[in-house]
Amino acid sequence: MAINVANLAAIRKDLEKYNATLVAVSKTKPVADIEALYQLGQRDFGENYVQELVSKQPELPADLRWHFIGHLQSNKVKYIAPFVYLIHGVDSVKLLREINKQGAKLNRVLDVLLQVHIATEETKFGFDAAELEQLFQPGELSQLSHVRIRGLMGMASFSENKEQVAGEFRQLKQLFDQFRNVEFPQVQFEVLSMGMSGDYPVALEEGSTMVRIGSLLFGARNQSPLAG
Ligand SMILES: *Cc1c(COP(=O)(O)O)cnc(C)c1O
Repeated sequence: MAINVANLAAIRKDLEKYNATLVAVSKTKPVADIEALYQLGQRDFGENYVQELVSKQPELPADLRWHFIGHLQSNKVKYIAPFVYLIHGVDSVKLLREINKQGAKLNRVLDVLLQVHIATEETKFGFDAAELEQLFQPGELSQLSHVRIRGLMGMASFSENKEQVAGEFRQLKQLFDQFRNVEFPQVQFEVLSMGMSGDYPVALEEGSTMVRIGSLLFGARNQSPLAG
């Protein structure tokens, strides 16, 4: 079995203290690995690529909760809308509108997280504080009957500097607290998705409720996590 069982146990123990959820990031990994982790009780899995997710989904048990954590293109929403559990990386109003449209077609309310740009790297997608402020005004949101914004997601800089990473997560937590009580039926904040293999303990200390972990569970990937 290709699962690192010792890491799984350690991660579960860490998460328990914070009552946080583990999303196992299975991108580039075979269905057999996902199956193995499923047998160990894991139900939440994260994928980055639409085609890969769409091909894996029918091969695995129906009670598995699929999280889409990659950069989602508007024209691909329709492929995952029927079964996706939570879309983490919503980084534009345009994408939010498209998700709403596909949800309406299916008569399904789709749960999403807004991605916030907290890292110093230019390559990371997401809203900034001012754009969030603008979104949470009457007008835009009232048009959206088939999305439910469940919280925020962010990625810290790839840095060895723990203070910097902690500071970026803290910034995201502050935005989460700032917007969690806005009163729109489409907004029900509950999830703060932050922390990966390299920085999840820091993320938990800073208030994460959901971590997305791949390589610690499944081993290193050949492909860059930013590819595609
Ligand atoms: C790949 C990926 C992860 C998991 O990364 P690991 O370092 O393998 O834990 C988490 N979040 C996102 C958005 C990713 O793309």
